[in-house]
Amino acid sequence: AHEGILRRQALRESAARTYARSLPIVPVRARGMTIEGADGRRYLDCLSGAGTLALGHNHPVVLEAIRKVIDSGAPLHVLDLATPVKDAFTTELFATLPRELADNARIQFCGPAGTDAVEAAFKLVRAASGRSELLAFTGAYHGMTAGALAASGGATDVRVTRLPFPQNYRCPFGVGGERGADLAARWTEYLLDDPKSGVPAPAAMILEPVQGEGGVNPAPDGWMRRMREITQERSIALIADEVQTGVGRTGTYWAVEHSGIVPDVMVLSKAIGGSLPLAVIVYRAELDLWQPGAHAGTFRGNQLAMAAGAATLAYVRENGLAERAGTLGARMLARLQALAADHPSIGDVRGRGLMIGIELADPEAEPPTVTTENGSAPPPDPALAAVVQQECLRRGLIVELGGRHNAVVRLLPPLTLTDEQATAVVDRLADALRAAEL
Ligand code: PMP
Repeated sequence: AHEGILRRQALRESAARTYARSLPIVPVRARGMTIEGADGRRYLDCLSGAGTLALGHNHPVVLEAIRKVIDSGAPLHVLDLATPVKDAFTTELFATLPRELADNARIQFCGPAGTDAVEAAFKLVRAASGRSELLAFTGAYHGMTAGALAASGGATDVRVTRLPFPQNYRCPFGVGGERGADLAARWTEYLLDDPKSGVPAPAAMILEPVQGEGGVNPAPDGWMRRMREITQERSIALIADEVQTGVGRTGTYWAVEHSGIVPDVMVLSKAIGGSLPLAVIVYRAELDLWQPGAHAGTFRGNQLAMAAGAATLAYVRENGLAERAGTLGARMLARLQALAADHPSIGDVRGRGLMIGIELADPEAEPPTVTTENGSAPPPDPALAAVVQQECLRRGLIVELGGRHNAVVRLLPPLTLTDEQATAVVDRLADALRAAEL
């Protein structure tokens, strides 16, 4: 069955399919961090639905919440009408938000996907400011619809000004660390303030506190605070895209808490639906200037997703899973950094909490092309990363690749992984790396 399913899907499905291409498995059962394939093989899942499954697969509290709605006879589809399930979800979500925002916030249910919420955020800030220009960053990923794609670097007709995102390792200026972050901030100020730059007054700046698809690039806290100042001083709304970083993943409940900034708009999806599709924006009430009916959509009231999401949000909060993600992630990061000392093909290890990236590089490339804080570094090696991914799969470990060159192995395990599973992940990855280097 396993081979037949893979073969038929490969023939029938679009050539654009993504994950199924590099991960030829047929999941039939899953629990926690473990997926079982139709061929009986078991895998540790470090992809977690691209960071969606905060509690892993089929967590009992999530299943229970879904069953409860079904057994109650509540309608499953109600557009965006008020329901007890929605009320409970909203109350739980507001309880987790930064106080300063929650005390004066509005929520808009946007549709099933993160990209829907990004589009809603863009519409909101444009309606509120009367401006149309948007600011987005190098390495950003916000989704696959026109506006979100434009902000991600895709070519569409939506106008976006691209700003440099500081990265410890491969800063756009070739300088890492605080100096790179300072240069990136100064370039941003120049673009906004010097008429010669040609950048019109923008409606908003959108950023990810840790870029995920862009290759796991954590924004320095100081730089985040500077972006907040820059936008505040110029009356530009700041949109934090926490689609991937939210719900405890980076070690705080929301990743903006690391720097202490309060954005004007937060874009939320993935984990907030507890494995089912749900996306919202939460924003300062003063921005709520769009007209009634200005934003609509059929699938904005998914009752099962709200119930699963509320259960997930509460479980993460009550069980301190954000703190656990912080300590466990730091432990995994330290082990991976130790591994890098013995493997010249590991160009960089970086991350925050349980959002970790291992960038593979070609140490034999001459001359080294990238300058970092610590001198020059070899260029990224996407071919090696692809081999490492396959060697991981052979060892029962699912990882995804990311980054501009697709040379970053990304780890996004559920926040519920055990100490033993965390050890097994690093052991298998180390093993896969040794095999790939041979
Ligand atoms: N923003 C970020 C930061 C993301 O990581 C993603 C998805 N990887 C999106 C937006 C888009 O979400 P979706 O795929 O649900 O449209």
